[in-house]
Amino acid sequence: MTGVTRFYKVEDGKLERTHRSCPKCGPSFFLADHYDRSSCGKCGYTVFKRKGKKGAATVAKSRRTPRKRTKST
Ligand SMILES: [Zn+2]
Repeated sequence: MTGVTRFYKVEDGKLERTHRSCPKCGPSFFLADHYDRSSCGKCGYTVFKRKGKKGAATVAKSRRTPRKRTKST
């Protein structure tokens, strides 16, 4: 796959977006696809995916790893 074509798929003659575009930056900016979210690399806009109630809750709980406080003042 080359260029932007990988952001689309053609099904039954219709062009479908497989990636969401950023509502802030415009339709030409696609959100990067992550396992549980899509985010804009330009402005940082993030959309969380929800595959299922149970799965979402489990992911939210188990995926949250406490960060070390490395922030120095
Ligand atoms: Zn953006």
